[in-house]
Amino acid sequence: MNLLPFRDLPAYRPRHFVPQNIDLGEWNQIAPLFDALETRAPQCQSAAEFERWLLDGSELAAALDEEGSRRYIAMTCHTENSEAEKAYLQFVEQIEPALKPRRFKLAQLFLAHPRRSELAKERYFVFDRDTQLQVELFRPENVPLETEEAKLSQQYQKLIGSLTVQFRGEERTLAQMGRYLEDPDRALRQETWELVSNRRLQEAGQIETVFEQLLELRQKIAANAGFPNYLAYAFRARGRFDYTPEDCQKFHESIEKEVMPVLRQLHVERRAQLKLPALRPWDLAVDPLNLPALRPFEGMENLLSTTHDIFTQLDSKLAGEFGLMRELHLLDLENRKGKAPGGYQSTLAESRLPFIFMNAVGIQRDVETLLHEAGHAFHALATREENLYSYRSAPIEFCEVASMSMELLGNEFLEKFYQAADAKRARRDHLEGIVEIFPWIATVDAFQHWIYSHPGHTRAERQQAWNDLMTRFGGEVDWSGYEKARTNLWHRQLHIFLHPFYYVEYGIAQLGALQVWANSKKDKAQALREYHHALSLGGSRPLPELFAAAGCRFDFSPQTVKPLLKLVRAELANLN
Ligand SMILES: [Zn+2]
Repeated sequence: MNLLPFRDLPAYRPRHFVPQNIDLGEWNQIAPLFDALETRAPQCQSAAEFERWLLDGSELAAALDEEGSRRYIAMTCHTENSEAEKAYLQFVEQIEPALKPRRFKLAQLFLAHPRRSELAKERYFVFDRDTQLQVELFRPENVPLETEEAKLSQQYQKLIGSLTVQFRGEERTLAQMGRYLEDPDRALRQETWELVSNRRLQEAGQIETVFEQLLELRQKIAANAGFPNYLAYAFRARGRFDYTPEDCQKFHESIEKEVMPVLRQLHVERRAQLKLPALRPWDLAVDPLNLPALRPFEGMENLLSTTHDIFTQLDSKLAGEFGLMRELHLLDLENRKGKAPGGYQSTLAESRLPFIFMNAVGIQRDVETLLHEAGHAFHALATREENLYSYRSAPIEFCEVASMSMELLGNEFLEKFYQAADAKRARRDHLEGIVEIFPWIATVDAFQHWIYSHPGHTRAERQQAWNDLMTRFGGEVDWSGYEKARTNLWHRQLHIFLHPFYYVEYGIAQLGALQVWANSKKDKAQALREYHHALSLGGSRPLPELFAAAGCRFDFSPQTVKPLLKLVRAELANLN
């Protein structure tokens, strides 16, 4: 039984090294290919032979990557199918761990190779830099600590995932309670907000304890790798070659200076529209005019064809690419029983084709998600000609420029989905969301900068640091009577527990996306040309060059942020 929505996608380039009929779920068929690469490395007598060796390794990596993606896609499209689940887990538990030491060995062979210095500098600069990093940070004594870290992270997830409340005589998860915060009935909003908030507060002590164990482990990991603290280690481990902790502080300051006045203004307007004496934490998600939710489409065919119309209006190349995805069934958008939650874009690394998974139900958020994931898909298609596997994907800070730009550019044509007034409302909601997320990103990031550069701090000091940031970035929200909830608000941001420091990337990317959008207002054709070009570079150039190719500055200072917020403000004024 074929559990994939698409059929027979051939490899984009015929295989040269990996046997056609190999079973990529069988380690005893995979291992000989790594053996062959290891044996061949010392025999490479010229730069050309060495490059061929790299491309063969690249072909193997892509084939394995696609195997994993196909199993993941099959599982998320059919969560009730035990065969699909088994196949996916088998790959994750047996193949992936076995790959790690073999990949590490190939990286070592690359770095020690006499032909390495003969490779074209410009072409291999990023590849060389990433491979060095992979080897440089590896410490055998950190392996058990990382396993311990993963276990603690899982404990946090399990704890948060298990939380429920009793509401109207029924047990409900916290996620299920989210929709009541959008209800026009204010008393109901307050009741649900308090229920959820109090349930979290009951676990506050346990969450703090898990976090403190994580903190201790992370400090050890950093010390083992020879770093003064985990802040310095994390920047290196995340491959942040092109920006520093100081740059991130500059980002926080720019948000404070340029975004906070806009957020405060939005809060003041919201309070006035809702006719309230003060804006409380449960007043932030409801429509300020008590309007019913937007309904942009009915049925998946409608969503697909209307989004296709938007791309046709925007750019014929993008429209053609979206058409190809439809033709090859590379989109599974409909929410139905047995599908995993959420949405994602996955790349089939060997066919060099994107796949989009979603759970659309007919709301504006679905339109935004499809535009966003389509941006990632266009990125994957733009790199099809690149033969080096690792260059077919860019750093996350730029991947999200591709997707977030597409939300902004596509939203210009929302009239395809709506009457004029509703299109304006949808655009306004989207821009307000951007204004709201920047300060939260700055808060989460600045908090972690403080935590990991203050080893040995007390719980009370940590709480103080968080509250200071809430004062800086919280806007015009009245928390009186709920101080404890405010102090512990960070407990729900899973990145702080699971992926330390991974969050500011979205803020950096949004600055890029806003610049692409600003450029398109001046010269749409040129902005799109630059967009296509920058995407086609994949991960072959460092971040500042990728941003420059897209017509953006890789810079977090007020000088860059100010004109972007001016544009957002002007647009919001037009949408009133
Ligand atoms: Zn994304």
